[in-house]
Amino acid sequence: MSISHPGSQRLDTPIEWLKGVGPLRASLLQKELGIFRFADLLHHFPLRHIDKTQVHAIAQLKPDMDHVQVVGKLVDWELVGQKQGRRLVAHLKDETGTLELTWFQGVQWVQKTLVEGANYLAFGKLGFYNGRPQLVHPEWELFQPAKLASKTHLEPIYPSTEKLKSRQLNGRQIAALTKELFQQLQPHDLPENIPIAYRDALRLLPRFEAYAALHYPPSPAHYQKALERLKFEELFIAQMRLQLVKVQRNKTQRGVLFKTVGAFFNGFYQNHLPFALTGAQKRVVKEIRQDTGSGHQMNRLLQGDVGSGKTMVALLAMLLAADNGYQSCLMAPTEILCQQHFQSLSALLAPMGLQVGLLTGSVKAGARKKLLQDLASGELLFLVGTHAVIEDVVQFKSLGLVIVDEQHRFGVAQRAKLWAKAQVPPHVLVMTATPIPRTLAMTAYGDLDYSIMDELPPGRLPVTTVQRPEMARSQVMEFVREEIQKGRQIYFIYPLIEESEKLSYEDLMQGYDQVKSFFPEPQYAISMVHGKQKPDLKEANMQRFVKGETQIMVSTTVIEVGVNVPNASVMVIESAEKFGLSQLHQLRGRVGRGSEKSFCILLTGTKASGPARERISVLCQTNDGFLIAEKDLEMRGPGDIDGTRQSGAMDFQLANLAQDRALVEKARDAAAAILEQDENLVLAEHQSLAAFLRREKGREGWHKIS
Ligand code: ADP
Ligand code: MG
Repeated sequence: MSISHPGSQRLDTPIEWLKGVGPLRASLLQKELGIFRFADLLHHFPLRHIDKTQVHAIAQLKPDMDHVQVVGKLVDWELVGQKQGRRLVAHLKDETGTLELTWFQGVQWVQKTLVEGANYLAFGKLGFYNGRPQLVHPEWELFQPAKLASKTHLEPIYPSTEKLKSRQLNGRQIAALTKELFQQLQPHDLPENIPIAYRDALRLLPRFEAYAALHYPPSPAHYQKALERLKFEELFIAQMRLQLVKVQRNKTQRGVLFKTVGAFFNGFYQNHLPFALTGAQKRVVKEIRQDTGSGHQMNRLLQGDVGSGKTMVALLAMLLAADNGYQSCLMAPTEILCQQHFQSLSALLAPMGLQVGLLTGSVKAGARKKLLQDLASGELLFLVGTHAVIEDVVQFKSLGLVIVDEQHRFGVAQRAKLWAKAQVPPHVLVMTATPIPRTLAMTAYGDLDYSIMDELPPGRLPVTTVQRPEMARSQVMEFVREEIQKGRQIYFIYPLIEESEKLSYEDLMQGYDQVKSFFPEPQYAISMVHGKQKPDLKEANMQRFVKGETQIMVSTTVIEVGVNVPNASVMVIESAEKFGLSQLHQLRGRVGRGSEKSFCILLTGTKASGPARERISVLCQTNDGFLIAEKDLEMRGPGDIDGTRQSGAMDFQLANLAQDRALVEKARDAAAAILEQDENLVLAEHQSLAAFLRREKGREGWHKIS
C-alpha cells in the first residue's frame, strides 16, 4: 500500500469497524457477500433504485412505469367483496385524475387510520386494473411537503441473500450501511485515476462523485453519468495495463532480428508456391516481415476466418526465420491437427529438400530421441507439435519463431514456458480461426498487435446452410447418397460437449449405427473419430478419410479445428441446437474448402429453445465469421466466448463488452494517447494514475503472457 495515498487506507478498513456493523454482521457480510473491507462495500453496487424524489401526476401514469409516487386527497374508501375477495379500496385524487389504492390485508387497521379529505403521499408498484391505475398495498403517509423536499436522492436497493434478509440485512437495509460509509468517505479516499484532461474532454464525472452517485444518485440521469464514468474507468485501467505490458516489452526486450529475405523464402516463393497468395495473405506476410525485421519481439495475433489460408502464412514466416538461421516451431492443440500441418508442410517443403519434424505424444521413443538431437544441434529447422514441444527436454539450438495455431486451447502458462526456450524471446504469431469481435480482441489480446485475414482464396463457393427437422432425416440421407455418388465425402457431427460424457458417447455410437444402416458396407466405407480413441486409431481413421478411402466421417467436435479435406462437401450436424454459434461456424468451416459447391445441414430436434433457433437462423443467413462472432457476443455475453474465458480480461463488474463497444474504443484510445506522450508515466498529471496502477495490481498474471 502506498503511503502517499492515505485514502486507500480508509478503504482498507475492516468492515467490522463501520458503524452499525460489528463482529456478528461483519462475519455474515463476509460469508454471504464477500464484503471484508470498506472497499468491498463500496463495490457492492445497487441492483436498482427507488425514486421518491419525484411526484407523478395521476393522469401521466403509464403501464411501462414501475414504481410511482403520487400526492392526492383521499376522497373516499369502501370495503368491497366477500370473504377471500374482501378488500379495501380507496381513491386518491390530484388535479389530473384519480388513483385507486387497494389493500387485501390489514384492512381493519388501514381503515381506522385513513382520514377523509387529508392529503396523502402514496408510493408503490404501479398496476392497471380495468384500465385504471392502481397501487396495491402502497406505502402511504400523510403528505408533509418538507419531508418530500428533503429527499434529494434515489434510494438504493442492494443485492442480498436469504440469510442476510433474515438478519435485518435485506436489499434496503444494506443501504443503511452504505449511507454510513459515505458519511465517512472523503473525495481524497477515492483519488482520481483518469488524468483530468481526459476526464474533462470525455465529460466524465470525477471519481468520488461517480461512486457517490452510483449508490445515491440525485436523479436517474445522474445514475447514468456515474455508471458511464465507472465503466469507462474499468475499461481504461484494463487498457492501461495491457498497453503498458506492450510498451515495456518493446522497451526492454530485444527481439530476434530477421534481417534478410533469403534463399529459403525466395526459392519457395518463386518456384514452389502452389497458388497465388490472396491480398490478405500478402499483407499479413508483409506485417510479419516488418515486425521481425524491427529488432523488437513480434507478438501478433492473426485472426483469419476458417479457410482463409493461415497455414501458408505460417510457412512463409518459418522460411523467413530459416533464412536468418533460426528454427521455428508450429504448435497446434490436437494430434490430428499436428499431423495435418506436418503433412502439408512436409509436402510443400519436400521439393526444396527441407525436412519438418513432428513431435506429439504418440511419437515413439527412438524417433523422439533423434528428433530431440536434431533440434538441439540445429539440424532440424522446422518443428510441428502439440504441447509436447514445451516439455523441458525439448531444447532448440536457436528458436526464433513460435507459431501457435488455434491458441485458445493453450494456456497462458504453457505459452510462457515456450518463451523461455531461447535467450532472446522468439517472435510469436498466434493464429486463430475463431473470429473475435473487435472490442473483445482489444481487451483480451490488447497487448498483441493484430492482423486480420478477411479474404478467402478465390474460387470458393459459399457454403449453403439449411436447417432440417430430425423427421426429415431420410430425405437428408438421400441427398447425402447423391453427393457420395458424385464422388464427394460427408461429415456427420455429433454433439459431445465433454468427451468423457457417457451419454453423448452412447448417442455417438447410436448415430454411427444409424449412418451405417443407411450406408451399409461394403458399398460404403465409414470412418469414426472421437476423443476416447487411442491416438493411433484416431489418426488411422482420419487418414483413411483424408485419402478418400472412406466416404463418410462420423465424428464429434474433435474435428472442429483445422482439419482440411477439400473433397468433403457436405456436413450434417446432429442436434445442432446443442452447439454454440461460433462452434457451429468452426465446424462448418470443414466443408467448402474445395471447388465444389458445399452444404451444411443442421438437424434439429423439436425441443430447440428460442436462443438455439436464433443461433441456427444466424448461421443459415451468413458465412461471415466476424458477423457471427459479433452475434455470438451479443447473445451469450463475453464470458463465454471461446478463447477469452481463461484470460480473466472479461471480469468487469460494470462494463459489458457487448454493449459498451464505444466506451472500449474510447478507453483504448485514451490509454494509447497517454502512453504515446509519456510511456513511463512520469509527468505530474499522470502521477495519480501511476499510483493507482501500482496500488491496485488487479488481475495479476494473465497480462504477463510474454
Ligand atoms: P485456415 O486459415 O482455416 O487454417 P488453411 O491454411 O487450412 O486455412 O487453408 C485452407 C485451404 O485453402 C487449403 O487447402 C489451402 O491449401 C488453400 N489455400 C490457402 N491459400 C490459398 C490461396 N491463396 N489460393 C488458393 N488456395 C489457398
Ligand atoms: Mg488452420
